[in-house]
Amino acid sequence: MSDNRSDRTPAKRSGGEVARPSTDHLAKPAVRDSLIPAAVQGFGVTFAQIFRKVTTEQYPFEPKVTKPRYHGRHVLNRHPDGLEKCVGCELCAWACPADAIYVEGGDNTEEARYSPGERYGAVYQINYLRCIFCGLCIEACPTRSLTMSNDFELADDNRQDLIYTKEQLMAPLLPGMEQPPHPMRLGDDEKDYYLRVPEAGSASEAVVGEQA
Ligand code: SF4
Ligand code: SF4
Repeated sequence: MSDNRSDRTPAKRSGGEVARPSTDHLAKPAVRDSLIPAAVQGFGVTFAQIFRKVTTEQYPFEPKVTKPRYHGRHVLNRHPDGLEKCVGCELCAWACPADAIYVEGGDNTEEARYSPGERYGAVYQINYLRCIFCGLCIEACPTRSLTMSNDFELADDNRQDLIYTKEQLMAPLLPGMEQPPHPMRLGDDEKDYYLRVPEAGSASEAVVGEQA
């Protein structure tokens, strides 16, 4: 394979001038393969478009249906009894390349329990001015608390309203669920929420009650 750069005139220095690469090769006229004038070729592209299928979306009058695995607005999921899956570990915030997530963990007590186990997400915010919807946060979440919905209608006219709070991100209560705080209804400790009851030495794991 020939290297055209080797044909160029080497740069020369004289006095205090700055050496610049030769541009002689750019002065050569371009060789055209086609006998059709360029202007006619250009109009040909236009005419070809006229007969193609129109792909104009009638949004918002006809809302677009996304693919099932589209990365849209986040959801903080619940266990089947309504307790929150988030344990306030901040792994999602550490995984986020855009620094869009802010989490503050809190301690559960027997009087005020929001999740199984010791900790829960007391403060949870996602800044949708920063989020690039990459999904790394949901991959990092160890409890499958954080997932992404298909909702893409997030536009707003001010910055403050694009910082979503925990209350906005929490999944709605489904039939049979109870608004936390309340005691654990599915077992005596958090293992009953995350692990199947061992059967003859089996250590298989199952996540229960995932909603999104
Ligand atoms: S989707 Fe990506 S950018 Fe958005 S909050 Fe999650 S990790 Fe951060
Ligand atoms: S959403 Fe998941 S990763 Fe983020 S703080 Fe809660 S439990 Fe941890």
